[in-house]
Amino acid sequence: MTLAEKVQKAIRDIPDYPQKGIIFKDITTLLNDGELFSEVIDYFSEKYKNVDFICGIESRGFIFGAAIAAKIKKGFVPLRKKGKLPYTTVAEKYALEYGFDEIEIHIDAFKNVKNPKVLLIDDLIATGGTAEAAVKLIEKIGGDLVAAAFIIELTFLDGAKKIKELGVEVDSLVKY
Ligand code: 5GP
Repeated sequence: MTLAEKVQKAIRDIPDYPQKGIIFKDITTLLNDGELFSEVIDYFSEKYKNVDFICGIESRGFIFGAAIAAKIKKGFVPLRKKGKLPYTTVAEKYALEYGFDEIEIHIDAFKNVKNPKVLLIDDLIATGGTAEAAVKLIEKIGGDLVAAAFIIELTFLDGAKKIKELGVEVDSLVKY
């Protein structure tokens, strides 16, 4: 079995979560499998060992991003929901089905590195709204995106297209 097949098998579908009609992809069952979780981290670590920073999106992007960053001994940068980061931030709003949300990054997250090469990571890309905001934030503070990586891509929602239109490569392990 390929890594993608193993991951696909380990992910659990939760119908009607967080609301009726949505089938939520639950990655906790993947995290629970230590061997497989480690294989996923090794896979992305090998591929992106030359980046300067790993940026993870709150909150499941932290789980994968921090593990990869520690493995390749590069800095981890959290992109958080509004109001959670303690120092001066740069913010970006993005549309939700109803209303909007906002994520932030510390303004000095890439300091001391010239033209920092950055990998953005999250567990899943759906509409791409969250990742689009993340790409804009990283670029606003001078980051040079090598790729946006996801464990899961929901292809029917066209999120990857949004990211590619920003000139950033999309790398997803499992596609639905
Ligand atoms: P988007 O902005 O691309 O529409 O939504 C992606 C964001 O929502 C990601 O941060 C992701 O963690 C979360 N998300 C949306 N749907 C799911 C899902 O089915 N499973 C998981 N694990 N996360 C989801």
